[in-house]
Order: sequence, then structure tokens, then C-alpha cells
Amino acid sequence: MDKRLQNFDILEFQRDLIAWYKQNKRDLPWRKVRDPYKIWVSEIMLQQTKVDTVIPYFHRFIEKYPTPKALAEADEQDVLKTWEGLGYYSRARNLQTAVKEVVASYGGEVPDTPEDLGALKGVGPYTKGAILSIAFDQPEPAVDGNVMRVLSRVLLVDDDIAKSSTKKRFEKLAAALISKEDPSSFNQGIMELGALVCTPKSPACLLCPLQRHCRAFAQGLEEELPVKSKGKKQKTVPYAALLIKNEHGQYVIEKRSDHGLLANLWQFPMVPIDEIGMDHIANWLFAEYGLRINLGAEAGTLKHIFTHLIWQLNIYYATTKQTETADDRIRFVNQSDLAAYPFPVSHQKMLKYIG
Ligand code: SF4
Repeated sequence: MDKRLQNFDILEFQRDLIAWYKQNKRDLPWRKVRDPYKIWVSEIMLQQTKVDTVIPYFHRFIEKYPTPKALAEADEQDVLKTWEGLGYYSRARNLQTAVKEVVASYGGEVPDTPEDLGALKGVGPYTKGAILSIAFDQPEPAVDGNVMRVLSRVLLVDDDIAKSSTKKRFEKLAAALISKEDPSSFNQGIMELGALVCTPKSPACLLCPLQRHCRAFAQGLEEELPVKSKGKKQKTVPYAALLIKNEHGQYVIEKRSDHGLLANLWQFPMVPIDEIGMDHIANWLFAEYGLRINLGAEAGTLKHIFTHLIWQLNIYYATTKQTETADDRIRFVNQSDLAAYPFPVSHQKMLKYIG
């Protein structure tokens, strides 16, 4: 047993947490269902995304793809369009790959064992634990950043949460703490407490149902925990992002590669300025896509921050006389049809420059 659990009243901790959760839980659409597929979709959407942002996407997604079979059979571009704006698009692609496996191997029923569920694409230890506990009432831990924050404070654990060994330690601690009677409320209770009370900055300790168990509070150390070492600073990459229009009022868009960042989404052509240089943009577009342009005025700038990268987009107007190129990544699209294509958020924002 972890030394931090010595002299810790696990049963009282469970009782206080679950009682608080039952009285204070937010009324969220995925909390009204026990369908493991819907809970799965909600958990994937909630990764790196705020609850308020997720709610309308969740409704739309479930209405369009109410079952694993419906999602498995959907067109990938259509799925990406429905996900447009949520970011981290590999989540949507992995989810679709995984539900295809659910349909092919499990008759469309989400599997209920840690081994089968954990083998599905995009289902990591957290998502697996969340689905098993919430949909199937199994006492599996579900440890994310919220849960590590709460437990690091309650149990006064000062290991660096950026390390994977620390995550493993918290998974063991959560497995020892979880209620066998109501694992769903226990896991959701810690997540909810982390979101509403035990927040990263200025936790509301005076209102906290776990205060009497909390060692960080007892020692006035709640703001010092969790310990997290800083990752590498993101690299900023400047691009010229081009709104290229032809004489028929069509805009040039480009499909991104089918792997890597924002795979298979559409965008306005982007030229890496550091590599190519502003003076060579037109030459580069011709060499790369067979596209001849005249570069016009600067329209504005946008910044988009990814986990490891920042795009600095310098947006320019440009014109072309072409209506096609031989490059099958490129399409010429009427302005009114642009909305049918899945764009990353940064390029959706560029639409305002063509009003
Ligand atoms: Fe978090 Fe404060 Fe509650 Fe401890 S007492 S769990 S630090 S909110």
C-alpha cells in the first residue's frame, strides 16, 4: 500500500465525496444516459475541451451518429465537419476507427472488459476507466489532470505530475480509494470537485466537502500542489496564409495530408515564410501546386496555439486567373460553398476577411 494511504480514512472520504457529488453535480446531457457509446463520445470530446463548449457538439454529434454503427458507416469528411471547431481532430478520427472495430468485432456493442476496451484506438487508461465506471459500474480508476490535482492535495503528494511514473502512482492511489459500491459517482465526483471546487488557482477550500481529509489544506499548501515541471516552450512558425480568388469568385483551398497535424482538414494555402521568404511566395505556389498568383495586400494576422507549436498566420489577399490545377489537393470553391468543408479553427477565422 502507498504510504500516503496510511492513517487515511478511505470509507469516510468516499462517503463525503459521493454525498457532495449527488447534491451538487451539474445537469449535463451525458449524465442523463448510461449508454456506453454516448459516454465514450462525451469523454473524448471533454479531453482538452471545456464542458460549455462540448454540450452543443455532443447534442449534434449524437443526433447525427446515435449508435456506433451510424458513426462507423459515416463519411470521414462528414464526421470532421461535425467536429469542426472542437480541435484535436485526431480524437474524431480515432473514435471512428474504434467504433468500426466495435461494429466488426463486438456486434456494435461497446465491450465491457478493460482488455477489450483498452485495445480500441484512442481509448487510453483515463477514457477506459471513465467508460467502465460510469456506464458499467466497474471500480476502475479514471485519472486525468483534475483527479491528479485533487489527490495530490488531499494526500499531499508532491511528485511531478508531468512524469508518467507519477500518473501511474495516482492510478494506483485512485484504485485503492475508489468506491466499490458506486464507482461511477466516485470518479465523476472527483472530476466534478476538480472542476468546481478544487480548481487550479484559488481552490474553494472553505466550501470543500473533503476539507477534513485534505492534508494540503491542513498545512496551507493547497496552492503549492500539484507540482508540475514546465514542458518545452512552443515553437512559433510564421506562415503566409493566402485568400486566393479567381475571376469567377472562387477561392482556392487545399486538403491537408492524411496524416499528422489536422489531417484531412481543409485550409487556405499556407506558405512557410521562414523557409521560402516573402519574395518567393508566388514561385513556391507554382512549383508546389502549379498555381500562378498575384500577391495582394495584407488582410490581417492570426495566431493559433497548439500543444507544441504556434502558427503565426499573416493573411494576404491574392488573385489567380486559373480555375483548376493538376494538383488533386487543390480545389476552387465558390464562397457560399466554403462552409461545407471542414476547416481548422484558425482557417474558419480567416473567413471573416472575405465577408
Ligand atoms: Fe482541494 Fe482545498 Fe478541498 Fe483540499 S480542501 S481538496 S485543496 S478544495
